[in-house]
Amino acid sequence: MLTIGSHMSIAGGLAAAAENTAAMQAGTMQFFSRNPRGSSFKTPSPEEVLAFQRARQEHGLGPLLAHAPYTMNLASAREDVYSFACDVIREDTARMDALGIEYIVFHPGSHTGIGVEAGIENIIRGLDTALEADGNILILLETMSGKGTEIGSRFEELRAIRGGVRRPERVGVCLDTCHVFSAGYDIVHRLDDVLEEFDRVLGLPLLRTVHLNDSMTPFAARKDRHAPVGQGEIGLDALLGVLRHPALSSLPFFLETPFDDSGHAAEIRMIRERLAS
Ligand code: FE
Ligand code: FE
Ligand code: ZN
Repeated sequence: MLTIGSHMSIAGGLAAAAENTAAMQAGTMQFFSRNPRGSSFKTPSPEEVLAFQRARQEHGLGPLLAHAPYTMNLASAREDVYSFACDVIREDTARMDALGIEYIVFHPGSHTGIGVEAGIENIIRGLDTALEADGNILILLETMSGKGTEIGSRFEELRAIRGGVRRPERVGVCLDTCHVFSAGYDIVHRLDDVLEEFDRVLGLPLLRTVHLNDSMTPFAARKDRHAPVGQGEIGLDALLGVLRHPALSSLPFFLETPFDDSGHAAEIRMIRERLAS
């Protein structure tokens, strides 16, 4: 059974987002854990939380995914940037866990000149503070395209991060199809090889969620430009191959394509039809 959803706005509240997800015939959703370009968040009222839990149960929504804001850079050597990132990952991991969200994903960060190793050290220290508190939520490292000084475009870098934290059992991986393609993992012609490499370096059980995006830019361009499924350089057949792959097909898939809710609903419909035919 395919579990697919899209990135949803929670401007109207979490409960409304869950209802919209069900109305779109989606089975799960991703949403920002706080304002993606700022730092603010609204604490939902107890009534709102209850309505959200009821909606998610009633519609049988699959594992839910919170996405940390883009403004957060846990690799940064700048003290203010770094301490903000540490606060965000610690607070949002706890807040999302309290809501019963299964996963929170974040972009490992950009080292902005201090080097991959020093950046990874910062990420590890920050993650350790977020993992001091007990909880059920898993923190997922997103596979990145490698633009600029971005960390996480090689599976080995994600392994170094996970391997360095005190509680690696609380850390998994979210594979973004646009990003890995852009980073030079050929999921179009060699999906089996890419997954074998993932398994060898990280272990496939660590892979928990997939961001299903096509790519506006060519293979190994190290850019991060999402295209609608089937309208980019990865193409529909390759993305259907990802959805069908036995190592992936039971995972939750999340669209981050440039559409609003009705566009995502149509995209999900198209994917279901193509998978069935
Ligand atoms: Fe992301
Ligand atoms: Fe993504
Ligand atoms: Zn992206």
